[in-house]
Amino acid sequence: MTDEFTTEVYYDDDADEAQLADKTVAVLGYGSQGHAHALNLHDSGVDVVVGLRESSSSRAAAEDEGLTVATPSEAAAQADIVSVLVPDTVQPAVFEEIVDELDEGDTLQFAHGFNIQYNQIQPPEHVDVTMVAPKSPGHLVRRNYEKDQGTPGLIAVYQNVSGDAKDEALAYAKGIGCTRAGVIETTFQEEVETDLFGEQAVLCGGVTSLVKHGYETLVDAGYSPEMAYFECMNELKLIVDLMYEGGLGEMWDSVSDTAEYGGLTKGDDIVDDHAREKMEEALEDVQSGRFAQEWITENQAGRPSYTQLRQAEKNHEIEDVGEKLRDLFAWAEEDSESEDDEQT
Ligand code: NAD
Ligand code: MG
Ligand code: MG
Ligand code: MG
Ligand code: MG
Repeated sequence: MTDEFTTEVYYDDDADEAQLADKTVAVLGYGSQGHAHALNLHDSGVDVVVGLRESSSSRAAAEDEGLTVATPSEAAAQADIVSVLVPDTVQPAVFEEIVDELDEGDTLQFAHGFNIQYNQIQPPEHVDVTMVAPKSPGHLVRRNYEKDQGTPGLIAVYQNVSGDAKDEALAYAKGIGCTRAGVIETTFQEEVETDLFGEQAVLCGGVTSLVKHGYETLVDAGYSPEMAYFECMNELKLIVDLMYEGGLGEMWDSVSDTAEYGGLTKGDDIVDDHAREKMEEALEDVQSGRFAQEWITENQAGRPSYTQLRQAEKNHEIEDVGEKLRDLFAWAEEDSESEDDEQT
């Protein structure tokens, strides 16, 4: 733990794996997070059973790795900790399959708080409810663990019937390698609201919109699509890498003075108070549950708008230009292997 942060950071020494010693963990789902949690816990010596439908194509993959596989309800029946790692939209239905298997003092665990925060899952009162959420796609959680490295993560406790919910969550975080890198404690509410806001306003929504507007501005002014692609999309990675490594400062230091002056004078003028007000509106929609309700209704209706929006994004000209240009660079393909997870 350190005093330098506004919140405590937990490392390996703060977590006691004995919390999991005589427990069985059911990992429901074997996708991005599921395979990483199951394999890392297994390699950490924890008793793991993977819960998958009889028809699941992931069954063979999990069995090939030496993991025990059962149906979600069979897995939950054997388990003391049920880690729910199926897609968020599927979780309420899977929860109905397993709820009767949750005994007094068992733990229902998540890697994202959506269904708890927005009441799509109402856990029984006799179980602990926790979150262990690596701040990275599952493939990196697995790869880092195999390299004896860690992935930073979050823990949260929503319900603590046993009195040990936090210690158990820390032990689980240790088992998947997160305490090697550092784990901070948050709440379900904070995790959900910041996650949804971040992906909408900045990470997924904001940045793609900025890229498309920049690209369209250049192409509409008569510049070549290839140049517009390089300036507005391809180079973004270089800029983001610098910010990731050394913050805004390292990025500004690394670009030319002309780029720095132009960026500092124009950036806030383009992404201005109007954008800031729109961000506040998006945050209010997240906080009030309006966004969650919209997304739940969209799913119930068979995803009509989502399907349309996805298609429109695929049809954007920048995607064609990019595909052709990326073909020219073998290195781009090597770099992007297996980090194509959908969620943030
Ligand atoms: P995913 O889409 O990669 O994996 C889903 C898995 O669930 C697959 O193995 C699939 O076979 C299985 N599945 C699908 N439908 C099922 C059903 N009806 N019954 C049983 N199994 C079913 O999911 P993910 O991205 O790993 O997300 C799991 C959880 O982790 C979510 O709560 C998500 O928000 C959270 N999370 C994801 C990431 C990430 O980077 N992917 C990061 C942090 C948290
Ligand atoms: Mg049980
Ligand atoms: Mg318990
Ligand atoms: Mg330039
Ligand atoms: Mg998210």
